[in-house]
Amino acid sequence: MIDLHTHTNLSDGTDTPRELINLAMAQGITTLGISDHDTTSSWEEATNALRPGMDLVLGAEISCLTENEISVHMLGLLFDSENQALQDLLEESRDQRIPRLKKMVTLLNDAGITVSIDDVHAATPAGATVGRPHLADALVALGHVSSRGEAFTELLHNDSPYYVSHIAPTPVTAIAAIKAAGGVAVIAHPFASQRGKILSAQDFAPLVAAGLNGIEVDHRDQSASERDNLRAVARELGMVITGSSDYHGNGKINRLGEHLTSPQEWEKLEAMATARRVVRK
Ligand code: AMP
Ligand code: ZN
Ligand code: FE
Ligand code: FE
Repeated sequence: MIDLHTHTNLSDGTDTPRELINLAMAQGITTLGISDHDTTSSWEEATNALRPGMDLVLGAEISCLTENEISVHMLGLLFDSENQALQDLLEESRDQRIPRLKKMVTLLNDAGITVSIDDVHAATPAGATVGRPHLADALVALGHVSSRGEAFTELLHNDSPYYVSHIAPTPVTAIAAIKAAGGVAVIAHPFASQRGKILSAQDFAPLVAAGLNGIEVDHRDQSASERDNLRAVARELGMVITGSSDYHGNGKINRLGEHLTSPQEWEKLEAMATARRVVRK
């Protein structure tokens, strides 16, 4: 059971890296990918928590924006965490999230919804990449909404009047940085139209030219027809096909292992990294 895309409380998941490792091992996951938003800060604890019996694939999910302002999430897996250019890119993205959340707070305040950036920071675990889910948690703590999910549906979704994007690398820039650091790049949930504007089929060729390795097809936020269309795009372009849970602990309904990557596809993907960086005890 191979689940390549999960989050810990070092971004917007709710399990610590150790809790996630323990859960994955208890559930019989054989290969677990950890891909926190714009950070590798979960890698150390995850590595220390690992025990024999499961392979650990360390990575990050990089928030990107296309020239047309379409939000794209790029999974980078098996890269060298000591690559300075990639770490600089991740740090810049994390920094951009703070003024962005301040703008969202101001828009909410202008509409009479009282919340402060300090409330958002108070809802963010130490060392975590801050994001809308932490603003959602602040809104729950203040009694404006009852859950993260309701905060997104009512106030924080991509088409909401309170939504602000943050300055982010283009998908091509992110792919180039991941590849230069020796990793593999898999575009996450690219046809999840329920989240907002999405890429069209012809937008993938430049990403492939930049070095894209795989496409996440099986994901909760993509409908059956979106998955079919995406599978066809992936086959046409010779991309590795992945499936994953995008598990966030209690932060989302996604269950660990609810979608998986086949061993054949994983073997192809792993072979595309420049070094064998899978962690094994
Ligand atoms: P951000 O990166 O700050 O734009 O926040 C985006 C993150 O919010 C995504 O990675 C999801 O994990 C999370 N998210 C999006 N929609 C929902 C939802 N309906 N409920 C809980 N979390 C969500
Ligand atoms: Zn997330
Ligand atoms: Fe994502
Ligand atoms: Fe994710």
